[in-house]
Amino acid sequence: MPIDQTRGKFSKDGKQEKFERIYNSGEGDLVIWYKQGKKPDEKGFGRVLEGVRRARALLARSIQVLKNEPKGELATVVLRHHFGANDGPLSSEDLASIIESFELIQEGLRAQPTICLSKKLSDNTRGETNGADTDFHVHINLNILDDHPDALARTIIHEASHRFASTDGSVTSKRYGESDEDEKPEIYEYHSAYADKTTDEATMNADSYAWGALSLGSGRLLTSNTFRNDLGTTYLNE
Ligand SMILES: [Zn+2]
Repeated sequence: MPIDQTRGKFSKDGKQEKFERIYNSGEGDLVIWYKQGKKPDEKGFGRVLEGVRRARALLARSIQVLKNEPKGELATVVLRHHFGANDGPLSSEDLASIIESFELIQEGLRAQPTICLSKKLSDNTRGETNGADTDFHVHINLNILDDHPDALARTIIHEASHRFASTDGSVTSKRYGESDEDEKPEIYEYHSAYADKTTDEATMNADSYAWGALSLGSGRLLTSNTFRNDLGTTYLNE
């Protein structure tokens, strides 16, 4: 049973501002923050809980596939599309480093993730994560996320990879015709440059892990096109 409690953050006039709901479970705890007057309905809580469960399940399955069948058909197509293995199989070092990152993300999401529904994100931002100076949390924008656990799971894995696998942008902006070579924005799956990223770039890129886990965990290659069609719904990509 979840526990609802206040979170000890007060406004100037002494009103309680933040609340949290805690789910304790065998597969890892989960904390959901929400704001005074903005308590989600049970369906909203349910969506977050299912999204986190699904993220954990996708990661577990992905690691299994990469460890047990790294040369199988599924791993081959997923590594090619999401991890830049365009010229045949990855080296064992590259494969080991990808598996290690998936394991770090998995560990982080088992520890005690906090999902925040209390921050107003811009209308086209699906999620955001905090810096490394506090406990890990992910801000999500339930309003624009597809009403499907996999959509939320993908956003959570993307954000968790920034924190636990140090993904922080990968492709020099020169590729996009920008002048600052040092700046390395992240490359999203729906960018055209995603198709020709190198494996080095992919291992530093959040969407590679998010879409990679979604694909490996679902047993088939998924992309922003096929995922949307599969669900029969539309949603924003960011
Ligand atoms: Zn990101």
